[in-house]
Amino acid sequence: MLQVPFVDLFAQYLTIKEEIDMAISNAIKNCDFIGGETVKEFENAFADYLGVKNFVSCANGTDSLEILMKAYGIGPNDEVIVPAHTWISTAESVGSLSATPVFVDCRRDFYTIDTSQIEAKITSRTKAIIPVHLCGLPADMDEIMRISAKYKLIVIEDCAQSHGATYKGKKVGTIGHASSFSFYPGKNLGAYGDAGGIATNDDNIAETCRMLANHGQNGKHVHRMEGRNSRMDGLQAAILSVKLKYLTKWTKQRQENAAVYNTLLGNSKTIQIPVCPPHSTHVYHLYMVQVDKREKVMNYLKDNGIQTAIHYPHGLPFVDCYKDRHHNDSFPNVARYQDRIISLPMYAELGEKEIAHVADTLKSIVGE
Ligand SMILES: *Cc1c(COP(=O)(O)O)cnc(C)c1O
Repeated sequence: MLQVPFVDLFAQYLTIKEEIDMAISNAIKNCDFIGGETVKEFENAFADYLGVKNFVSCANGTDSLEILMKAYGIGPNDEVIVPAHTWISTAESVGSLSATPVFVDCRRDFYTIDTSQIEAKITSRTKAIIPVHLCGLPADMDEIMRISAKYKLIVIEDCAQSHGATYKGKKVGTIGHASSFSFYPGKNLGAYGDAGGIATNDDNIAETCRMLANHGQNGKHVHRMEGRNSRMDGLQAAILSVKLKYLTKWTKQRQENAAVYNTLLGNSKTIQIPVCPPHSTHVYHLYMVQVDKREKVMNYLKDNGIQTAIHYPHGLPFVDCYKDRHHNDSFPNVARYQDRIISLPMYAELGEKEIAHVADTLKSIVGE
């Protein structure tokens, strides 16, 4: 039986094995274990890729959110608006600073924050909005920037799933005041361990973030503030520099794979495929569909050699650590689709034969 994994990171490694092995051995030879030239090279290359002035690396995408908010002075008694449907880091990083994440329902069609519901959640304590470009589709940034200007709020884009996606011709991560990236192995640009970073055109914020990520230092033993240890490994930077050269090609392959899925599934009456507004480009970190009777569908796919996943089974207002806070509030869109979403296999190296097998199997279990 044809086996279709959800992602295949080893397949990707094999396509660039020689370059990766060489980059790793060079980093070791140069003893660039933490920081150093290898990290600086990746930071510069990624800043160029995005077209921003500063890219500050750190240990992971969760830290990059937390460090950024700390640099903007967000702390106890502050509120930060986040989408109700995202990976927990977006809210958890707010809580780590003793600030309060305030959830806003997401759109049923795009899965990004429903901007028409943001203003109702703004209070005198609101300091920032963190839009998440979930699955690789940009949030409605024009509307978010309009609200941010009106209420003087900081906008931090969570770009962990959206490397290279564009909104009205601009790369995400360059539209808000600053942005956060993750290079977790399974992301569209992934290291071989944890890594993350911060993009911003604001030199002061970049400098503060750089200090916060390295014990508050701006020179050896010059601790300007209390910071932390959140640095990128040289090995991860070496790997990321190699992989960055292929990101545009891999993104195109993801988009082509999504187009094949769209063609094969687009005429279904019961399977809801992802949609992308014409002014945006979607980078398909996830190819997420909605179906009825999800459990039965996932089991059938599994029995046919197809691995799927759920991103995520519960909106954040419904997970244990937040569910007791929101009794006056409801999140009808997320509440409905959280039980219907399935992420299908999606990665650059995925073949057309595999996509056809997934689509055929999915259609047969929903009775089409
Ligand atoms: C992966 C992810 C993060 C966190 O990144 P890590 O590098 O795993 O800490 C944050 N936000 C979103 C939306 C993510 O998908």
